Amino acid sequence: MPFRQTKDPYKIWICEIVFQQTRISQGLGHYNNFIKRFPDVKTLAEAEENEVLLYWKGLGYYSRAINIHKAAQQIMNDYHGRFPKQYDDILQLKGVGKYTAAAVSSICFDGKIPAVDGNFYRVLSRIFADDFDISNSRAFSYFSELAHLILPENVGDFNQAMMDLGSEVCKPKNPLCNECPLNEDCLAFSLDKVSEFPVKTKKVKAEDLNLKYYFVHRNGRFLIQQRKDDFIWKKLFEFPPEITEELIPFIKSVKTVNHKLTHKNLSIEIFNVEVDSEDIWESFITENNFTVTDVEGSHDRSFPKPLENYIQNYDMAYRIL
Ligand code: SF4
Repeated sequence: MPFRQTKDPYKIWICEIVFQQTRISQGLGHYNNFIKRFPDVKTLAEAEENEVLLYWKGLGYYSRAINIHKAAQQIMNDYHGRFPKQYDDILQLKGVGKYTAAAVSSICFDGKIPAVDGNFYRVLSRIFADDFDISNSRAFSYFSELAHLILPENVGDFNQAMMDLGSEVCKPKNPLCNECPLNEDCLAFSLDKVSEFPVKTKKVKAEDLNLKYYFVHRNGRFLIQQRKDDFIWKKLFEFPPEITEELIPFIKSVKTVNHKLTHKNLSIEIFNVEVDSEDIWESFITENNFTVTDVEGSHDRSFPKPLENYIQNYDMAYRIL
């Protein structure tokens, strides 16, 4: 893995953020493209936010991209462009939590803090056959203390080994115990109880959310706007969430798309509104300040996945017409 060959804190930081919610096989190409375009803090800090979002395309959870952009500007302003070395300073960067701060400080600056996350809980629970409930609010401090008992001198290597073991070997489902380098020391494995660990009692119930969008189009062009700092899909582009009465007669069809986000089940109704009147089209745009684009132009912007798919289908249908 390219990010295991470096101690550049910028690259380690980006890689930790990218792979927090994205599998390595899925995110590696995106990570490489991102680093190629934004090779250092300065380049990232000076970029336009929309370009950063564009390079984040395909990774999802776009608030991460917004945060790293702001954090890069923070490093330029507060640390003269030099990545902070101390754990507490790294923790102050926008979007950086205890896990990422521990990873960067240990890998790049010889910090002595274990990088504790869900992978870490799982691996330690299994190795020690420890039934501490990982949904308990004290799980972080419990597993941090446990980690301190086994922490070697080189904490950076230890943290990276735990990350790789958790993501590639000691996986949540079907762990590769027979190939695991720790199987002789793993209590859950020797007791044949791997499937019983980690213990998790509380399940977070996903909230149902209904959304409506209107795909308002005319002659291959359609209307979009940028979302505000909202609770989901911050700063991404979207279709109009409502239309005026004048446009109702132009509704041709409606499609319902289901989409899952962390802790949210979305049901999105997308109305296909093909406007036959130039006057109504123009006045709707002017009154609401929408941006007009076409499929080609939409490639320069980032959309939530369900809307991006809708545009792709529209592109195919429009080409056929
Ligand atoms: S032996 Fe299995 S359960 Fe134990 S650490 Fe290795 S992969 Fe995980």
